[in-house]
Amino acid sequence: MSEERDRDGLGARRPRDPAVASRANDPALSDPQADSRVATWTEAELGVEGRVRDVVRAPAGVLSERGADVDATTPESVQLAADLVATMRVSPGCVGLAANQVGVGVRMFCVDVSQHPKTRTHHGTFVLCNAEVVEASRNEKAREGCMSVPDFTGDVKRATRLRVRGQLPGTGEWVEVATDAFEARAVQHEIDHTDGLLFLDRVAGAHAIFPRTTYL
Ligand SMILES: [Zn+2]
Repeated sequence: MSEERDRDGLGARRPRDPAVASRANDPALSDPQADSRVATWTEAELGVEGRVRDVVRAPAGVLSERGADVDATTPESVQLAADLVATMRVSPGCVGLAANQVGVGVRMFCVDVSQHPKTRTHHGTFVLCNAEVVEASRNEKAREGCMSVPDFTGDVKRATRLRVRGQLPGTGEWVEVATDAFEARAVQHEIDHTDGLLFLDRVAGAHAIFPRTTYL
């Protein structure tokens, strides 16, 4: 997912400690240890150098197909995970990227909303494979953008309280992420990509789509 730059620019960036900011102690979370595992995970664990890949734009077919389940433990998956993070990092305003956005039709994505001013809870940088939503509640409408839809933004309703499960690349261990606000939105946007859906498929209609006015 990507965002238009706020009118007041990026001065509001607030780096935080992901371990402190995570919901690791949330009593509603069924497995707090698995959640804090995500918060402390970094791409350094992958042990390979990420390469920046080209981002695919709509209407490329790979963006509208459900991704295949992926073996999170293979060297190819580890490299793909590193590449997703590397590509996200060099793309200004990018807070998440799915595998099919770099042309690979598997269920994997990365997220990092830690520097975004609308973020509340966050888990730093993480990659999830075969992720699925466990619980979602409290819908709210907000504007979204996407590197694969560079000319438009759209108002999309998303849950603001979210619990997902998925596998970490490399070890393949199953983890759980409980989050809210902007990170919840980013994760739902990326899980949609793994299901072959774009934010354009989620808007209420043409009145909820806007030309993108600022480019980061
Ligand atoms: Zn996107």
